[in-house]
Amino acid sequence: MTTQLMTTTQFMMTRRLGRPIQVAKMRCCHMHSTSKEMMPDFDRTQKIFANKSSWELLRATVMFRCAATPWLMNPARSLINDAFERQHLPLAKSGAPFDRLLLWLVKQTAFRHFTGGETLSECHAVGVSAAKDGVKLIVDHSVEEREDPSAWQPNLEAKCQLLRDLREQMPGQVTFLPVKVTALASPSMLEDVTVWLQGGGSLAARFRLGKKTETSMQDCLANLRVLCTAARETGIPVLLDAEQSYRQPALDWLAMEVMKEFNVRGETPWIYNTYQMYLSDALDRVQRDIRAGVKGDFTFAAKVIRGAYLVTEAERARELGAPVPTHPTKEDTDKAYNAAIGAMLEQIHADPDSAAVVVATHNRDSITLANRGDAGAGAGEESSPRSPGSDHGHVREHHHRAGAGRVQQPQAGSLWRL
Ligand SMILES: Cc1cc2nc3c(=O)[nH]c(=O)nc-3n(C[C@H](O)[C@H](O)[C@H](O)COP(=O)(O)OP(=O)(O)OC[C@H]3O[C@@H](n4cnc5c(N)ncnc54)[C@H](O)[C@@H]3O)c2cc1C
Repeated sequence: MTTQLMTTTQFMMTRRLGRPIQVAKMRCCHMHSTSKEMMPDFDRTQKIFANKSSWELLRATVMFRCAATPWLMNPARSLINDAFERQHLPLAKSGAPFDRLLLWLVKQTAFRHFTGGETLSECHAVGVSAAKDGVKLIVDHSVEEREDPSAWQPNLEAKCQLLRDLREQMPGQVTFLPVKVTALASPSMLEDVTVWLQGGGSLAARFRLGKKTETSMQDCLANLRVLCTAARETGIPVLLDAEQSYRQPALDWLAMEVMKEFNVRGETPWIYNTYQMYLSDALDRVQRDIRAGVKGDFTFAAKVIRGAYLVTEAERARELGAPVPTHPTKEDTDKAYNAAIGAMLEQIHADPDSAAVVVATHNRDSITLANRGDAGAGAGEESSPRSPGSDHGHVREHHHRAGAGRVQQPQAGSLWRL
């Protein structure tokens, strides 16, 4: 069996039908195939970074040292943001030479480290290099949320086209396509639907949502169906990104609706919902949705993350005088994370066709636990994997994308995110 070896600041593993499939969201990546007996050894840096040049390693070291220096990073961040903002201003108002120098520096350092490039062909080069190590990619073209109906259809078409391009131009190199539903549907509809669901989700209350919200909800479902159909046709499943807590229940609901249609038991699941385990209610929601998958006779597919909006969730709660929706401590989040992975693995062990999981984390302990197959919730030792029934097979990857889970791109449409 091939398992994965990775040293990474970001790592994803999918596990289905008792076999691990590991993928990473990456830009530069090395991947070393290894045998099942070899658990990921994060200390074997010589092997892990064998494909990196000294310059790349030096650049990464300096960059991470800088990123860990608040007195440097805080002013630098504002300067960089301002330079991005000024990019499109008339010359007189832009900070021209200084801005250009700053953005050039960013491009030579963080950009090169954290992204796959600006075009699909640049990503392709990364994919070829990664493939040498048995590593596959998650490729995305960043599109941010828009409360603008005229943007959703083109965004959907762009995503479907990207799936087709990936199949044609990077065959066998890409495992998933991430999707932000707020780029394809109304963010305010998600908030209204969340309020409806949090109020019990009754049919009567649904009528009170109003025609506009109902239509928007149906449009969103239709868009997701188009996307899943493209995913199925191209063989590249989609991962729905998680959003803020005041939108996530709507996303859960929409995702489960589409999973019922597209995640047919015994076949590749084409759509994964994301669970942010820093949310106090997330473990309950994972367990609820595992049960729903079993009851509904479809494959419940989940990407499990800790969550990226810790600060803004706390700020919003403070502003509204509402309880903070996240766990009070990092340890609580860690426990919930490992318990969710454990619950998913347990379900997969009990009934391999009923669930699929992507372990999306930079956390070494979680990766080690998940790889052992016992992420804290009683799943037994990993059984001998059967040969993969899905397109993904055994993929092992590591990469070095660090920092925030998502790099928010200043210019939608200009950057390919890996
Ligand atoms: C492939 C991939 C896809 C992703 N997709 C999404 C997505 O769709 N939506 C999204 O929001 N994020 C997404 N992320 C980002 C993800 O949420 C962050 O990578 C993650 O939060 C960082 O945590 P970690 O698991 O890597 O581990 P760690 O570095 O061990 O954990 C850091 C995390 O712990 C939590 N935490 C830290 N301090 C506290 C505290 N005091 N109390 C409670 N919790 C705390 C926070 O969630 C923090 O981000 C994705 C990441 C990856 C790798």
